This record gives sequence, structure tokens and C-alpha cells, in this order.
Amino acid sequence: FELKFPENEPVKGYMPGSPERAAIKAELERQLANPVEVPIIIGGKEIRTGNKAPMICPHDHQKVLGEYHVAGEKELLLAIEAAEAAREEWENMPWEHRATIFLKAADLLTGKYRAKVAASCMLGQSKNPFQAEIDAICELADFLRFNTYYAQEIYKQQPMNTPGVWNRVEYRALDGFVAAITPFNFTSIGGNLSTAPTIVGNTVLWKPSSTAVLSNYYFMQILMEAGLPAGVINFVPCRGTDFGRVVVSHPKMAGFHFTGSTAVFNGIWNQVGSNIAKYVSYPRLVGETGGKDFIFAHESADIEALTCAMVLGAYEYQGQKCSAASRAYIPESLWSQLKGRLEEEIGKIKMGDVRDFTNLMNAVIDRSSFLNIKNYLDYARESQDAEIIFGGGCDDSVGYFVEPTVILAKTPNFKTMVEEIFGPVMTVYVYPNDKLEETLKACDTATIYGLTGAVFAQDRAAVIKIAKALDHAAGNFYINDKPTGAVVGQQPFGGSRASGTNDKAGSAINLYRWISQRAIKEAM
Ligand code: GLU
Repeated sequence: FELKFPENEPVKGYMPGSPERAAIKAELERQLANPVEVPIIIGGKEIRTGNKAPMICPHDHQKVLGEYHVAGEKELLLAIEAAEAAREEWENMPWEHRATIFLKAADLLTGKYRAKVAASCMLGQSKNPFQAEIDAICELADFLRFNTYYAQEIYKQQPMNTPGVWNRVEYRALDGFVAAITPFNFTSIGGNLSTAPTIVGNTVLWKPSSTAVLSNYYFMQILMEAGLPAGVINFVPCRGTDFGRVVVSHPKMAGFHFTGSTAVFNGIWNQVGSNIAKYVSYPRLVGETGGKDFIFAHESADIEALTCAMVLGAYEYQGQKCSAASRAYIPESLWSQLKGRLEEEIGKIKMGDVRDFTNLMNAVIDRSSFLNIKNYLDYARESQDAEIIFGGGCDDSVGYFVEPTVILAKTPNFKTMVEEIFGPVMTVYVYPNDKLEETLKACDTATIYGLTGAVFAQDRAAVIKIAKALDHAAGNFYINDKPTGAVVGQQPFGGSRASGTNDKAGSAINLYRWISQRAIKEAM
């Protein structure tokens, strides 16, 4: 059993006349016509609490995809018991057997269940077919295959021996369970955060986002069909406050795997800190949090490449990626031409129902997100320091729609240049060509974040200078390309500063965080 370096799952095009298009269209209608009831899954058993919440279609909030059962304290305690009970057998299972389960799950996801999972992600999280395909299918399958491969490579490494001494390390799981809290914006992240620790022998409590329950549940079913033993992952949709109180404070929580807001991660960190003496082991805290990702253009930038990066980087999936381009620094000499090109391209964007495949954009995730974005737009509209030059409209009469928007800021510290909005809003600051240094400094220091960023320049010396000046401003840095769309196995993903612990999703670095080595010396 020796795994080769995996290949990325090829992205299907959903072109007119293709079989995948017919399959997903049929599946969308089927899911809309057949609301489902999603149970909690603990120790391999379905549990129904009767405390239910609806799963709403963001593009049409009168439509529901069904309901899910919400776990409370009792179920969370049961889930901890189940995770603890399953741990020893799972950890001691020969690694090849663990691996085959995840590889089989990847094959089920990309084969038999492709349309089902992609359609649930489109309807529940409001994605176009391309965004659902790259997320819920390709990236999720890549996480499973690459993590499995990286685990194999980790397990091969052994220390050296000396005469009369046999040294070895055992790659054990953590001494306790791992808690995973996962976001709505990527089904793949839900899948990765719950499975990565289990690939190296841990057991997990998985709290999916309340607005991504359906696609996450379908993935959970795939894991079980692939042979994941009972209790290894416990699927517990619940309120964040309950999860925090019952799970995060539990003495046996040995790891915490998170993607979401900086504020929530900070809250968890504080909670762990104040509880620290009660844990059996210091919990490993791994988080990918907020971003305020930049595009920095030099006067030598190619305007076509820049236009394309700004539009796709800012508006694909309605800007709801931690990596979305949300602030741009543009030299004065390029602005008037660039502005014209942005206007043309933004003018071509269609927005609406996910079932119309000509829509590039769909709805933002829910009402609270819609209102939050709208507040920022109102703020910009009323400010003397900024102007909304394109878009700015919001309409929640049918679904939660926000137009692709460009705000022109007069200062590099304008609120929308600094704070994460998580919507289709890009703020542009136009700098005088001779103020490159000052503008680089502003870009580096304006925000607390450090997730992704891009430089656009054809002049190689400028690329080097800008990359150096923005050294820690982005954990994923792009040269002449948009700052979104990292691919597993190609660009390991994560940032630092207030953007997270930079434990690169889909890499060996991440897996090491879920391993607790025992080093053994034996005198011969
Ligand atoms: N990995 C995604 C990307 O590169 C972003 C993940 C996120 O939004 O958390 O676009």
C-alpha cells in the first residue's frame, strides 16, 4: 500500500448538452420538491431532538429545503462520550484501513453523489454550478486525497539510530477529542475540518454552520457509506453558545479546528485560556479567520489582467470568501482606463436564482449578512470620504441580493478599506504614482488581517519590491493573479495576523497539529 502524489479532481464544465448539466438540473428540481429532515448523528445513530430549524434558500427565502434537528447540551455530552468511546479502536486501526475509507469517500463524492452534493450546496449556500463544483466536489475530494497522502508521508519519517540504540517515534492521535466548528461558505472546509484530524486517528465533534447543514449532512452520509466507524465523526448542528459551554470547556477537548470570524476564534481562545488548568492536554487551536484581502497594482500592471482579477476576486460567490479581493490600491496613471473596463465588466454580471446558469452571482447567505453589508453601503453613501461608483443596490424582497459594488475611498483608512464586509463590495484607493512607498505602508498596516493579497506589475523589480514590503500581509500571495481560488496540493491555504494560525489547510503542517508523538528509545 503506497499512495502516489494525488492529482486534483478535474473540474466539470456543466456545458449545455453535457450529462453533468442534465444531472444537476434534475437534482435541483428534485431537492426543491422534496424537503428533507436532517438528524443529528452521534455514535453512528440518527437522533431527532424535535427542536428543529429550517434550511432556507438564500436566493428565495420563502423556499425551504427542509429542517434540521438542533443538538442541545444532552446530545453534545452524548457526542463527547461517543467520540471518546470510538477513539482507541480508531487510532489503533492500521493506517491503511483508515486511508481507504477517505479515499472511498472521495470516489463516492466525485461519482455517485456528485450531483446531489453540488445541488445541495447551490440551493442551500447560493452558489452557481461552477462555484459549487470547485468547492463541494473538487476541493473536498482533493482535501481527502491529499491529506491521506500527506499522512502516509508523515508516518514514514523515523529518527536515526545509534549503535546499541533503536529509536522510533509513534504518531499518535491527541489524548482527547477534536472539536470542529465550520463555516457556510465552503462545503469543502466543513469536510476538511472534520476529517483532517480523523485521518491521523482522532475522533471529532463537528458543528456545521447553520446555513450549510444540508450539503454537510450529505457529506457526512458519504463518510458513513464509505465505512467510517460509528463515533469517529459526530455531526452535531447546534447553537454556538451551547457548543462553547459544553464542548470547548470539556477537559477532554484536545484540539479545536475552526474556520469563521476572528471575533469567534478570539472568544474561543479566551475561553480555552480561562479554562486552561482543567484540560487533560493543552488543546491545539487551529483557526482560519477573517480577511481583508488586497490587490495592489503598480503602474506597470496589465489592465486586462487586473480588471479580470478585481471582478472575479471581488464578486465570485458574492465576495463571501475569506480570500475575496475587497480593497484595491490603484496608481493614478491607470485609474481612468481601469475604471472604464470595470464598468464594462461589472455591467455584464448577471445575478439571481441558482437554477439560471447564466447568473455569475447569486444571493448572500442570510438576512443578517444582508443587513450587515447594507449598513456598510449606507455608511459609504453618507460619508464625505467615499463615493459608491458602481452598484450599491440591495434587495431582499425575494432573496438576499446585493449588487456588485465599487466604493472609491479618499483615504486608505476608510472604514470599508479596513473592515471585513463578507459581501460583493470592493473599495478602491487611487494613489499618486510617486507615493508608492507610503501606499505600500498603508496597505501593510491598514488592517489587522493577513490572509491573501495580490500584486499586479509587469516590471519584475516592482514585483520584488512590493512582495517584500507586504511580506506578512498575506499568507497566500499572488503575482498577477486574483487572490482567491487556492488549490489543494498547489497553494496550501492560510494566513497569519488576525487571519489565523496559518496551519495551511490541505497540507502536512495541518496534520501535524493533530498528532501527538511518542518518541521511544530502546537500548538493545
Ligand atoms: N481557500 C479559499 C480560496 O482560496 C478561501 C477559503 C475561505 O474563504 O475560507 O479562495
